[in-house]
Amino acid sequence: MRAYAETLPNVVVADRNLFTCSQDTQEKIKEYIREYDLNRVVVASCTPRTHEPLFRETLREGALNKYTFEMCNIRDQCSWVHRDDPEKATENEKGDRLGGQAFNLYATYKGDKIKPYVENLVENVNDHPLIHVYLNTTVTDASGFVGSFASTLTDDNGEKKELEHGAIIMATGGRPYKPKEYLYGKDPNVLLSLELDQKIMKGSDRIRDARSAVFIQCVGSRIPERPYCSKVCCTHSIHRALTLKSLHPDMQIYILYRDIRTFGDREVLYAEARDKGVLFIRYDLENKPRVEKENGRLKVTVTDHVLQRPLEISADIICLATGILPSDNIPLTKLYKVSATEEGFFLEAHMKLRPVDFATDGIFLAGLCHYPKPIEESIAQAKAASARAAAILMKNTIEIEPIVSVVNPEICRGCGTCERVCPFGAIHVIEVDGVKKAQNTPASCKGCGLCAASCPSKAVDMCHFSQHQIRAQICALA
Ligand SMILES: Cc1cc2nc3c(=O)[nH]c(=O)nc-3n(C[C@H](O)[C@H](O)[C@H](O)COP(=O)(O)OP(=O)(O)OC[C@H]3O[C@@H](n4cnc5c(N)ncnc54)[C@H](O)[C@@H]3O)c2cc1C
Ligand code: SF4
Ligand code: SF4
Ligand code: SF4
Repeated sequence: MRAYAETLPNVVVADRNLFTCSQDTQEKIKEYIREYDLNRVVVASCTPRTHEPLFRETLREGALNKYTFEMCNIRDQCSWVHRDDPEKATENEKGDRLGGQAFNLYATYKGDKIKPYVENLVENVNDHPLIHVYLNTTVTDASGFVGSFASTLTDDNGEKKELEHGAIIMATGGRPYKPKEYLYGKDPNVLLSLELDQKIMKGSDRIRDARSAVFIQCVGSRIPERPYCSKVCCTHSIHRALTLKSLHPDMQIYILYRDIRTFGDREVLYAEARDKGVLFIRYDLENKPRVEKENGRLKVTVTDHVLQRPLEISADIICLATGILPSDNIPLTKLYKVSATEEGFFLEAHMKLRPVDFATDGIFLAGLCHYPKPIEESIAQAKAASARAAAILMKNTIEIEPIVSVVNPEICRGCGTCERVCPFGAIHVIEVDGVKKAQNTPASCKGCGLCAASCPSKAVDMCHFSQHQIRAQICALA
């Protein structure tokens, strides 16, 4: 590609890089702009969907108009299209208190108690004169764009309140999966992870009297219906096994697992648990443990993969490390036009470049609503999202991108196709003097071009990508 580009008229420099989006390459592009007095830059790699803003910024820093940048989309439109032919390719979740799941957790993996920290935080929030808390409230309507949103809150009595706000942070959290297996809900000694934490915090008799415990990992996780790992549960079980050992050093504790995922320095807890005599037994998804009641006691049968024979364990308590599910985020995805994964967690704009942003400007995300994560990651993400939102709120004016759709009202027939296809709610049909016409909101428009491509009357054009310009590009390729 580089060899070909060099042969094209007006090309003064062409280069090839291993990672064109890396910091080094950005610096190199700026040097080239200065050295060769460039007036256009073209990058042929990856996709403009995620990387175009980065390169535009590089041009701006190199003192070149950032809209003179062009990206050749060889990933989405070439390599992905020809992936088999590489030769050719180059329930209403609103709550009645602040704090969420953190109130149910006993301690972080480092041993810090969570409840007092959260209680203090909640108090600070409630006492802050500039923070208004609305409990038992559902968002029932929303409109607007970055810097100027309006959301309608409806309380349990049906009373509505409209709030105007400049930014949004989604933090709807998650909840534990509640299984029907392993006698959960049928025997009070079969507990979920957070129920065990509650009992430990309350000093319950059930914990005081227990002399044997079995933890079953990956309950409802890493199965075809829910293929993801919930990330926190291996550490949680091992840490609580150590807590139980500190209460009763002679307690028999078994952890039945598929894989142990104590990432980073959590591995130290795993080693400590083994040293202290916690027994780890691996099981297969095809041969899951069985829980029964025998002579009034819980009995767990598991096939040990080394001995290749079933083991029977008598247990006073069983703790099920169940997977984490998202809250019901779908109504919010519709109201605010934001994306969610197949499992229902919110989806960030870009995993590496915009990890706390949604693709829609002015809306951010933090915590469990994004994917299962430990508390310190949720806090770090919440800080990042707040900083991003504050950056908007501190501005008097907001610059928007010039690549937006433009409707020609003389041609528009008000059919509404553009409104239906726009993923960002940026174009609407309005009635003026009894005539229906499409009108776009440039601040919400992401310049995706769907409306322009779908309009049957060709009444929509895109700034910088007009029909005329696209046709010229196609002719140049032909
Ligand atoms: C079973 C389980 C075990 C865990 N174990 C550990 C562990 O051992 N160690 C660890 O570090 N972390 C653990 N975590 C993760 C930890 O709890 C989270 O990282 C952290 O508490 C997430 O906070 P959050 O605010 O994102 O979500 P949450 O704590 O879930 O809070 C979300 C809040 O949003 C509210 N809400 C939801 N939907 C709406 C809506 N539509 N409108 C208004 N309000 C809404 C909810 O009522 C709730 O108050 C565990 C989580 C779970 C579920
Ligand atoms: S963290 Fe451990 S128990 Fe939880 S889903 Fe992942 S592997 Fe299973
Ligand atoms: S699709 Fe075209 S004709 Fe139909 S409302 Fe939108 S701009 Fe007007
Ligand atoms: S280009 Fe059209 S479809 Fe795309 S965001 Fe803008 S108004 Fe919506």
